[in-house]
Amino acid sequence: MSIIALSRISKSFGDKTVLHGVDLEVGEGEMVGLIGASGSGKSTLIRMICGLERMDRGTAGRIALFDKETQKDGRFSEHCEGLRREVGVIFQQFNLISRLSLLTNVLAGRLGRIPRWRGTTGLFPQSDKVKALRALERVGLIDQAHQRASTLSGGQQQRGAIARVLTQEARLILADEPIASLDPASAKLVMSTLRQINRLDKTTVIVSLHQIDHAFEHCDRIIALKDGRVLHNGPTGGISPDDIADLYGVEAGSLDLVKAR
Ligand code: ADP
Ligand code: MG
Repeated sequence: MSIIALSRISKSFGDKTVLHGVDLEVGEGEMVGLIGASGSGKSTLIRMICGLERMDRGTAGRIALFDKETQKDGRFSEHCEGLRREVGVIFQQFNLISRLSLLTNVLAGRLGRIPRWRGTTGLFPQSDKVKALRALERVGLIDQAHQRASTLSGGQQQRGAIARVLTQEARLILADEPIASLDPASAKLVMSTLRQINRLDKTTVIVSLHQIDHAFEHCDRIIALKDGRVLHNGPTGGISPDDIADLYGVEAGSLDLVKAR
């Protein structure tokens, strides 16, 4: 089964085109590193995949998730809303609601949306709580379950966000720069947690990064974006970090693409 199929996706904001006819296929169980400098279109592409952004009207493009169409030729299809529940999204920041407990935040994964209530976990059936506690155990945060999210470190909050998508039982995880604001040790732990879920559960993961080394260390495939175009798309073993640096015109040995031009 194809998990993601994109063909000829274009996106403009005003008169600025930020994605130029992107094609992309992702298969079941892959962990894909989407790399590119800031402004290359990573977030826009991720937002298109999860249905938060619509492709340009009047262009002949198509997006399908799990072999079902979500957008075609600039229109959302009837499947889009339902499929969004199967996609877990992790952002760079603001992943958890700070005034709620970690457990409540993780339970929100069962709703497929951000909760509005004041934070009681009594609304959820016991089976949901068991799922949420198991997910917290898997990401190493069981002892923090009843802490307010605001008392957790950035790395712990990000692992909490991973526990939430586990509780959601997402079939696809889209993580948009999940480690960009973390210290190196927390970044490593978040990446290895994502990789472990990908390996054990066969959940497909797309993770956007501007750090080449993390993509090489944890991903099966690297998709390199530059100015809204796919510069490279292939297995991690098929290219070296220096080749990637060369493609972007940054110095060999440079691992951070944030300012690549
Ligand atoms: P990345 O995630 O790789 O940094 P983005 O997808 O956020 O890149 O942005 C790609 C380009 O699109 C940037 O030039 C950005 O300024 C522009 N852009 C993104 N979202 C919007 C928006 N809602 N309105 C206008 N321009 C946008
Ligand atoms: Mg971004």
